[in-house]
Amino acid sequence: MRTVTVLGATGSVGTSTLDLIEREPERFRVRALTANCDVAKLAAAARRTHAELAVVADEACLPALREALAGTATRAAGGAAAVIEAGASGADWTMAAIVGCAGLAPTMAAIRNGGTVALANKEALVSAGDVVMRAVTEHGARLLPVDSEHNAIFQCFDFDRPHQVRRIVLTASGGPFRDTSLADMARVTPVQAVAHPNWSMGAKISVDSATMMNKGLELIEAARLFPICPEQIEIVVHRQSVIHSLVDYVDGSMLAQLGPSDMRVPIAHALAWPERMATPMAPLDLVKLGRLDFEAPDPGRFLALSLARSAVNAGGAAPAILNAANEIAVAAFLAGRIGFLEIAAIVDDILQRYDPPSPETLDAVLAVDARARELAAGRVEDCVR
Ligand code: NAD
Ligand code: MG
Repeated sequence: MRTVTVLGATGSVGTSTLDLIEREPERFRVRALTANCDVAKLAAAARRTHAELAVVADEACLPALREALAGTATRAAGGAAAVIEAGASGADWTMAAIVGCAGLAPTMAAIRNGGTVALANKEALVSAGDVVMRAVTEHGARLLPVDSEHNAIFQCFDFDRPHQVRRIVLTASGGPFRDTSLADMARVTPVQAVAHPNWSMGAKISVDSATMMNKGLELIEAARLFPICPEQIEIVVHRQSVIHSLVDYVDGSMLAQLGPSDMRVPIAHALAWPERMATPMAPLDLVKLGRLDFEAPDPGRFLALSLARSAVNAGGAAPAILNAANEIAVAAFLAGRIGFLEIAAIVDDILQRYDPPSPETLDAVLAVDARARELAAGRVEDCVR
């Protein structure tokens, strides 16, 4: 029996994780579930799984959560500190699926706990790569990548012989605007941007996918997770999202992981690792698929790619600034306050204007994140005016 905690249990990844956990109740016991403020969904999940603890980040939602859990054995808690405590709840396995840098401190708590941490929350690793990876080593935690590309690479990468890896190839769907001209991209709406052709995901990552900042964040994520230089990571657009990424070895062999575009596949891999567990998806029908296409991404239309590449090369605070400015710009776009192309323009601007020393601790990363958010919010106001 494995004890599990799901941080961000009401989101897209969190829901898929619980779907798998609930299919094998004899295998998993739920320690803690957290959400921002979706009380109804959180309480329903806690009731179904007999979770020991349910936490809302927004403290104002705590009375409603208490009420929704009345008569159950589930303890209710609220506030950012309680989410961090849920991360430190001592579970054998923790899914880190809070969206954005908000997930950094709870994810760090889970890492310091020393168990297995399944990482979906890429923003945490982008913002605080060194701090996170150092804590993993110090506390003997095991980090398993859940992002489908990184999970694919994890399954193909020879960690005993990293020098024999020539390249990593990250595949990208290209998002909903892969065939849209720059002029038309200037006018796209939030509804168009979140309508992803292949995957069903939360709003923020869907917009990141549309700007291709998602692939930029994943480039940085890959450089943190695998013993390889950023120059060895290539990005290729692959519309079908069937090959989730590849590892290219010096002898010319390329190993790929293929699967349906359903996050339950990489989540199941992390949940059962090093074993395997069944998922409900039908096996891939290669004949029906017929073909797989590949093309180079267009740097002229997707500025986010070169911004992320520069940020990973610059190192220090740059990835944290890139991520924070992007989070603010995406939220402003989703709120209808700025245009689609302004997202990357704002990130570019903040990266140029803000150049603090490299943050070496969690608190220093959070301070850089907070300042970059302030600057980006100011820049949003300039756009709106
Ligand atoms: P989502 O928006 O669907 O869910 C986010 C979860 O985080 C929810 O449970 C929400 O309540 C919680 N949350 C939001 N703000 C919070 C805060 N301030 N404090 C505490 N909790 C908060 O997002 P998602 O699509 O499930 O993505 C989650 C993470 O996984 C992201 O980092 C994303 O990049 C990554 N990821 C998602 C997918 C996918 O298919 N959805 C794939 C790969 C990686
Ligand atoms: Mg991904």
